[in-house]
Amino acid sequence: MAVLLNGRRLAKSLAPGLRVRIAALQRAPGLAVIQVGEDPASSVYVKRKRARAERLGFHQVSLHLSADISQESLEAQVDALNADDTVDAILVQLPLPAHLDSTAILDRIQPDKDVDGFHPWSAGLLSQGRPHLVPCTPRGVMVMLADAEVSLSGANAVVIGRSNIVGRPMAMLLEQANATVTVCHSRTRNVAEIVGRADVVVAAVGRPGFVQGSWLKEGAVVVDVGINRLDDGSLCGDVEFASAEARASYITPVPGGVGPMTIAMLMENTVRAAEERQSS
Ligand code: NAP
Repeated sequence: MAVLLNGRRLAKSLAPGLRVRIAALQRAPGLAVIQVGEDPASSVYVKRKRARAERLGFHQVSLHLSADISQESLEAQVDALNADDTVDAILVQLPLPAHLDSTAILDRIQPDKDVDGFHPWSAGLLSQGRPHLVPCTPRGVMVMLADAEVSLSGANAVVIGRSNIVGRPMAMLLEQANATVTVCHSRTRNVAEIVGRADVVVAAVGRPGFVQGSWLKEGAVVVDVGINRLDDGSLCGDVEFASAEARASYITPVPGGVGPMTIAMLMENTVRAAEERQSS
């Protein structure tokens, strides 16, 4: 039976170290969060992020904008936050309404305030192995694996999903930790067979129970990034938990695994951005 990787507990344990770094700053780290429209899941995530930032004493700017805002108006809001010296970090909650060009909005965030690490400058540095602000979810996964002392050097790692938010940066981080990485996506043939060779599996697909326990090598480390809401309102991951738990050595639960680590890394990235901006 697998050992549970408890993201909630690990995220909590990181707070004291962060508080010491915050106390050493000239002023409180400034985090701006932009939400557009009323997507219920986005509202939950924004609320959680703001609550954590509040507990750490961040200076917060919260913009909740109408779903029909124009591209130009939203870009003007990003420009204003770029110019605001009390703001160290800017987060645009995704997804944006379909009429907006998300890429253009994310590209507009000043790279030193790019707390989600989605700007091409941040992605380029990561791809060259000299990361600056790294996307929060894959970074949180790396911290979890390090905390559990999972040995990545020479390990076969399989990442399912290749989004710019999770899969792609995840694969880069694992490769930079000297794992041999295979990335699966919607056109991959024989995903089950590829997963069966993995020492470490990271699932970031967005399909409930996609990875089945029977696919796994005995003793594999399983990280479930997926957050899927079922018809009964409950949450589940991309991994069929019960069957996977029986074969894995370590496994992350959903909820309580990667999710809390994502928020913890957002806080850490904000402090990092503040440290760098305030010392320059
Ligand atoms: P996404 O942008 O929709 O990407 C999904 C990826 O899965 C794509 O690369 C897609 O391949 C791949 N895929 C789809 N069907 C597949 C199949 N049958 N076989 C193999 N690969 C397949 O989603 P995302 O933003 O990366 O998020 C993935 C999941 O993680 C979602 O459940 C999301 O809610 C969750 N998430 C959780 C956190 C957290 O904090 N825990 C943070 C972010 C996201 P193609 O590229 O070929 O389309």
